[in-house]
Amino acid sequence: MAKTPITMARGDGIGPEIMDSTLQVLEAAGAQLDIEEIEIGKAVYERGIPSGIEDSSWDSLRRTKVFLKAPITTPQGGGFKSLNVTVRKSLSLFANVRPCISYHPFVETDHPGMDLVIIRENEEDLYGGIEYRQSQDVMASLKIISRPGCERIARYAFEYAKANGRKKVTCMTKDNIMKMSDGLFHKVFDEIGEEYPELEQDHMIIDIGAAKVASDPSRFDVILLPNLYGDIVSDIAAEVTGSVGLGGSSNVGADFGMFEAVHGSAPDIAGMGVANPSGLILGSVMMLVHIGQGDVASKIHNAWLKTIEDGFHTGEIFRQGVSKHKVGSQDFTKAVIERLGSVPETLAVQKYAAGSGAMVMPPLKPVVQEKIERVGVDLNLTWHGTADELAAKVQACVNDNLALQMISNRGVKVWPNGQPDTFCADNYRLRFMGVDGSTVKTSQVIALMDRMNKADMNFTKSVMLNMFDGKAGFTKAQGE
Ligand code: NAD
Repeated sequence: MAKTPITMARGDGIGPEIMDSTLQVLEAAGAQLDIEEIEIGKAVYERGIPSGIEDSSWDSLRRTKVFLKAPITTPQGGGFKSLNVTVRKSLSLFANVRPCISYHPFVETDHPGMDLVIIRENEEDLYGGIEYRQSQDVMASLKIISRPGCERIARYAFEYAKANGRKKVTCMTKDNIMKMSDGLFHKVFDEIGEEYPELEQDHMIIDIGAAKVASDPSRFDVILLPNLYGDIVSDIAAEVTGSVGLGGSSNVGADFGMFEAVHGSAPDIAGMGVANPSGLILGSVMMLVHIGQGDVASKIHNAWLKTIEDGFHTGEIFRQGVSKHKVGSQDFTKAVIERLGSVPETLAVQKYAAGSGAMVMPPLKPVVQEKIERVGVDLNLTWHGTADELAAKVQACVNDNLALQMISNRGVKVWPNGQPDTFCADNYRLRFMGVDGSTVKTSQVIALMDRMNKADMNFTKSVMLNMFDGKAGFTKAQGE
């Protein structure tokens, strides 16, 4: 069998120790790998490279398209960028996959039946880092959710469920509040879901969904989440399994895959020989499935499960009466290698198809061009008086085709007929609409802004308001 080239980095803290264990297991199991090593993390940051990765390392990643990565220590303080975020974005790794499984009765857990997979969108949402200080008092972050982004991740979740014998996909959003951004994520989940009638599908509001993951995780199978909720819920789920040290994770895109442990570099136990290498070993199992060596992946996964069943446990999961042998990283690794070829007796035996390789994703659906019509504009400005005073000043500037419809503060309507009790910060949003629903020209908006500017109005932001096939591309303010 031809060797598959991969890029590997040993990382920081316990990284080199757990990578050493993982490489020993991969070799003993007969994984066919041609490994290129790169350096990432602390040493690279300290050479003054803010991304934590040298330019030359990208050449290796682009060549192999597969990255087996140990955790790194992210330096605290200004100027340094998260290496994980940089790699995810640079290589378009749009899906983060995290199986969260409890190993009852061999590892102590409050949730014996837990066996779920979190699929988190990895590129969009509030992680765009587009933030503004709109006024002295007000900060704003932009939440970006795109249709192609939703389609890719929803399709990935359904394809993943199909390929891995899962039965149900649950999407979680907050679309009762964020009707447009989360609304799109939910809507596209429903649309793509129609192509997978064999899979059970449901949607939950994220707050109750996250609570149920913590209290009753056995009800879930695959959970699909936008980026920020995915970040939070995947940590809750990993914690609930009872063993953060046991989780592997993959970040995959159309062309690239990055495989790692869920946990960090654990500097508190680095160099002591006690770290649990399981997370990275299971990350490498996901890598083997991705590169088409499913038979080797099954061999390692089953040997690992048998090791856990036989009670070989590292310190952080060792429990008197449940565990049998308290082992360090090396003895644990030895126990896994000795069990290659064995299968677990109580825990479920894993079987990955040999040679299946990375999931092939169908192309995006063709775009249907909608009719776009500009109907108004929202202008933000700094103001220290009352909303009524602001309205009076602005009314003197409106031109014949743009009427002031409402003023809001922090999303709540404060004019006309605002509530006297509403607290106002110093940034106001003024909504102007075309008179009698007429289309608005850019030149009319510019003329209005010019008049307001001459009246000494301090703009902070403007957003055009459009209709898409007759449907509003903007929400109403609370109380509007
Ligand atoms: P951590 O996951 O490194 O450690 C949390 C706790 O879990 C510690 O007590 C640690 O000893 C223990 N632990 C973690 N992995 C273990 C293992 N394999 N075996 C036994 N015990 C284990 O989280 P942290 O302390 O918040 O972060 C430490 C560093 O790791 C930080 O610099 C952080 O930025 C970085 N980090 C990196 C990644 C990554 O590279 N993917 C992910 C998370 C955190």
